[in-house]
Amino acid sequence: MRYDAIVIGGGHNGLVHAAYLARAGRKVLVLERRHVLGGAAVTEEVFPGFRFSVCSYVVSLLRPEIIRELDLPRHGLEILPLDGTFTPMPSGDYLWRMNDHARTRREIARHSRVDAEAYDEYSLAMVEMARFVKPILDMTPPDPWSLNPRELGRLAFLGRRFRGLAPEDRYNQVQLMTMSAVDFLDQWFETDVLKATMSASGIIGTFLGVRSPGTAYVLLHHYMGEIDGAFRSWGLARGGTGAISEAIAGAAREAGVEIRANVAVAKIKVSENRVRGVVLDNGDELDAGLVASSLDPRLTFTRLIDDTQLPDEFVAGVKRYKFRGSSGKVNFALDGLPNFSCLPGEGHHLRGAISISPGIDYMERAYDDAKYGRFSRKPYIDIVIPSLTDPSIAPPGKHVMSCFVQYAPYHLAEGNWDDQREAFGDTVVNTIAEYAPNFKSIVRHRQVVTPLDLEREWGLSEGNIFQGELSLEQLFFLRPVAGWANYKTPIDGLVMCGSATHPGGGIMGAPGRNAALAVLKGGKA
Ligand SMILES: Cc1cc2nc3c(=O)[nH]c(=O)nc-3n(C[C@H](O)[C@H](O)[C@H](O)COP(=O)(O)OP(=O)(O)OC[C@H]3O[C@@H](n4cnc5c(N)ncnc54)[C@H](O)[C@@H]3O)c2cc1C
Repeated sequence: MRYDAIVIGGGHNGLVHAAYLARAGRKVLVLERRHVLGGAAVTEEVFPGFRFSVCSYVVSLLRPEIIRELDLPRHGLEILPLDGTFTPMPSGDYLWRMNDHARTRREIARHSRVDAEAYDEYSLAMVEMARFVKPILDMTPPDPWSLNPRELGRLAFLGRRFRGLAPEDRYNQVQLMTMSAVDFLDQWFETDVLKATMSASGIIGTFLGVRSPGTAYVLLHHYMGEIDGAFRSWGLARGGTGAISEAIAGAAREAGVEIRANVAVAKIKVSENRVRGVVLDNGDELDAGLVASSLDPRLTFTRLIDDTQLPDEFVAGVKRYKFRGSSGKVNFALDGLPNFSCLPGEGHHLRGAISISPGIDYMERAYDDAKYGRFSRKPYIDIVIPSLTDPSIAPPGKHVMSCFVQYAPYHLAEGNWDDQREAFGDTVVNTIAEYAPNFKSIVRHRQVVTPLDLEREWGLSEGNIFQGELSLEQLFFLRPVAGWANYKTPIDGLVMCGSATHPGGGIMGAPGRNAALAVLKGGKA
């Protein structure tokens, strides 16, 4: 069987990539190793009646043009807004930022009037920053070392955009690219808990602390999303994040894509520096003129290809690319709802994100543990209870609760993750119980997902949730390898289309779409 294109991996980026190629008339096959589509954007019934967004759990970054062009609502996509962030504090107080700007401002004023004023200015500045970055998300990064007129044109576009910024926004942009999340936020705010909970977005998926330079950019990365045109808002997909992947798969199938699950690619066939197709793990061979890998560079270039077929310099770049997974996930099936001592009852504060990030020192100490190879004894936890907004995912009266946890370093100084799994799960339970004392009594089941599980089951090397850290040295024209950020590879006809390419991780779809547009422009498939 011969295809125009074979896409390796049925995560959301692989599916987006396939859909765009098929809409342009190509005959496309997607091969997914797991029994279910979606990769890290997946819904699974882990315990009978309880359906979990096992890995990613909230959505914001998914590019609006993909939603529109693939008509995802018609294929079942529905995004329900997440109602703000509630941060309980050990003092018995709390900070609750809601989707309503005026109410959030009043709530912040309860902690500091100065911060309430600054919140307006900060929000405006971040919207400007996100506006500046938005078109960059959808472009193929230029190669700054090339004198090719097309590359120079892209560089000039960036230069013009930067010059077009107001002077204070230019300054902010440079700061965002260089500072730590805490240093950046310190310039605006004085309230410790406010800065701590905001800085948490700066460490997600990195092996950095809130005081490490470079985390201000990651903060911006999580600010770039929008839902229905509302910048910075986050939401839940009805049916879990797997419903996003299923909607994309629906659009892809409608465009003619063939999708096969439970099929792992063992090798990419290459001869005379040109891709020829793939070999499956059962030995079957499939031919195609184009192969698109949505896997990370380590899997693609050291497992699926014999690296002697690649230039040494490129292989060195692949080996330098950092993963350093630092996160885990604990998913709970609950008999009831947690009752927070600082704000008892089943109010609206349970419908948004609940952030265990009570202070900057707390966050930094969580990182200290990770630096020395231990999971955090007092971790940062980002909690959502999606069954409150979408009751279809749990039995009546029961709930699912998703806890994203940092830090859980892939490389442990002592022991291994299979031995540490339950201790890690207990740490999460005990930490939440400090704020919601009824918690232990409502836990019916728990699923502990360690960084090692992310690698073994989801194919995320070293458990990095973004297929490689979103650190400055591996972003934009440096992602995944300097000189190869244009979705191409040294092998003709082999392209990259997953989160390890620009603009990186998150349920965004941009890598898949950008790579497809680059292929179609180059007329390769
Ligand atoms: C725990 C966790 C929490 C997260 N939380 C969020 C969040 O809340 N919001 C957000 O926006 N993002 C979040 N993310 C990040 C986001 O989910 C990922 O960046 C994104 O889903 C990656 O999509 P992808 O298609 O690029 O790659 P993947 O989802 O990694 O897809 C790659 C696919 O390839 C398959 N595969 C691997 N090897 C082979 C092979 N040999 N043959 C065939 N198939 C193969 C894998 O099974 C997988 O399905 C989270 C990620 C994790 C892990």
